[in-house]
Amino acid sequence: MRSNKAVVKVMPPKSGENSIAPHIHEILKELGENPGRDGLQRTPQRVDQALRFLTSGYRMDVQKILNGALYDVKYDEMVVVKDIEFFSMCEHHMLPFFGKVHVAYLPNKKVIGLSKIPRIVDVFARRLQIQERLTQEVAQTIQEVVDPVGVGVIVEARHFCMMMRGVEKQHSGAMTSAMLGAFRTQKETRDEFLALVNHRMNGS
Ligand SMILES: [Zn+2]
Repeated sequence: MRSNKAVVKVMPPKSGENSIAPHIHEILKELGENPGRDGLQRTPQRVDQALRFLTSGYRMDVQKILNGALYDVKYDEMVVVKDIEFFSMCEHHMLPFFGKVHVAYLPNKKVIGLSKIPRIVDVFARRLQIQERLTQEVAQTIQEVVDPVGVGVIVEARHFCMMMRGVEKQHSGAMTSAMLGAFRTQKETRDEFLALVNHRMNGS
């Protein structure tokens, strides 16, 4: 009864799962930490699970997510979904970048359930990414599955690899856009979308 500390054993990996954990254990040692101390005992398993969640987009299937949520309509005005929050990880440093996605499309007799658009964003955000590719992949996927007259996607993000490392430009953000179809060829369509997004960004 000298100590009331619980004896915690390192859990053996379950088949396939937790296979990242031993590597995290080694990384902790390499960083000069003591992986056996109280606060770090379960850290390798937690990191393992966190990384699998943050990269779960690789294992998602767009068609399954859509599950037929395409509807025939006569509506032909622009559909805009703004301020979709996302969290991703940059493929260069495996540090988070996060921000908002704004999506618009001009329907061609079909619309997609509005709730599906944030889920499509997650498919591509929950991977190792660069912001430019995330923007393109969201636009191209909507183009493919909805087959609209055009798609516009704007991503605003802040990158931990810029905020936390040497550069330390804490307020620096990056904006990227992808314009397909009418959003590329028709200035007024693009301007309508940009005006809607800017309206929000100016806080008005
Ligand atoms: Zn980075």
